[in-house]
Amino acid sequence: MKQVFLKRGKDESLRRFHPWIFSGAIHHMSEQPEEGEVVEVYTSENEYIATGHYQIGSIMVRVLSFEQENIDQKFYAHRLAVALDVRKSIGVVGRADNTTYRLVHGEGDNLPGLVIDIYGKTAVMQAHSVGMHVDRLTIANALKDVMQDSLDNIYYKSETTLPFKAELGQENCFLLGGSTDDVAIENGLKFHVDWLKGQKTGFFVDQRNNRSLLEHYAKGRKVLNMFCYTGGFSFYAMRGGAELVHSVDSSQKAIDLTNANVELNFPGDTRHKAFAEDAFKFLDQMETPYDLIILDPPAFAKHKDALRNALKGYTRLNKKAFEKIKPGGILFTFSCSQAVDKDHFRTAVFSAAAAAKRKVRILHQLHQPADHPINIYHPEGEYLKGLVLYVE
Ligand code: SAH
Repeated sequence: MKQVFLKRGKDESLRRFHPWIFSGAIHHMSEQPEEGEVVEVYTSENEYIATGHYQIGSIMVRVLSFEQENIDQKFYAHRLAVALDVRKSIGVVGRADNTTYRLVHGEGDNLPGLVIDIYGKTAVMQAHSVGMHVDRLTIANALKDVMQDSLDNIYYKSETTLPFKAELGQENCFLLGGSTDDVAIENGLKFHVDWLKGQKTGFFVDQRNNRSLLEHYAKGRKVLNMFCYTGGFSFYAMRGGAELVHSVDSSQKAIDLTNANVELNFPGDTRHKAFAEDAFKFLDQMETPYDLIILDPPAFAKHKDALRNALKGYTRLNKKAFEKIKPGGILFTFSCSQAVDKDHFRTAVFSAAAAAKRKVRILHQLHQPADHPINIYHPEGEYLKGLVLYVE
């Protein structure tokens, strides 16, 4: 294995099990590794410290292990078996009323660069690092070993998640099976999951618990589900007894999926309407007096440098909702930007409430669910935060 040697003192974060090695920490290498190759990392004192995937970029090594071991099918099978055990503990595996969950959440499962979501008998696997792309077949074999008969298909979906410059020629394809049955069940509700072309792995698994909470607030309310994507929150609101549910997304494809999902769960139900429109424009022009609004926008800050503008965006969006929501209304508001932490987000929403001059109480503080765990040594893994607010 090729070896990477660190500069003096640059082993500190690794001793605290942080899984990233930045380019600036590297002194020299025994030989130039290929992108995605497994390398061993040594301190300036020539002491072994970690094994990981090499990649050109600011994060040069993503650590897979802090013990000297081979990164092979057995290694991946072990990591996947632990990940599955975690999901069994959470209670999301083997349920008839819930066939969707995240099995692997990157660093949160000690597999940096890898995401695996389960939809019924199909796993959708996504590589966010070149190393995981190179290892994809080994991982698929290990996954089949671990999941056995509960899995028939593995779809690999990394076309848009890998660096273009690496020129890997990656394409989306089935590594196992090839099902077209794309219906998954979340808490008893059915969803078409567009793993072939949809966003992320085809569905936003991370809002499961927050959608459940929303169901309990929906009775008799007029609901606006903004940035609805495939309509997740809308169906919980309908099941919860909402009087009317409007779903909005700027993507026509998302709106088509939402309508298809309504037909799947509530055929012919006239309480629901979907609009393909820009959120800001819709909020400016809307006339219906909504008393339950969900704001779940895409990440406004993809990087730390974009933080200031992102916070302004969250404030602007939330201010519009505060201005329009009926007295006694409930606002579910989210940020999935990793660069925006809990306090930043709360400040942005606070500024919005003050600017709209509304009396606002925080009822719940929400976050990502347990199948998106945070590695205690990698706090950067915390990304989803939300507030449920009562607006007087
Ligand atoms: N709430 C969804 C996930 C939202 S993802 C769920 O529970 O599954 C963010 C969505 O915002 C995407 O579907 C994207 O198409 C949409 N979007 C992005 N910019 C938008 C805009 N300016 N107005 C409306 N929708 C937008």
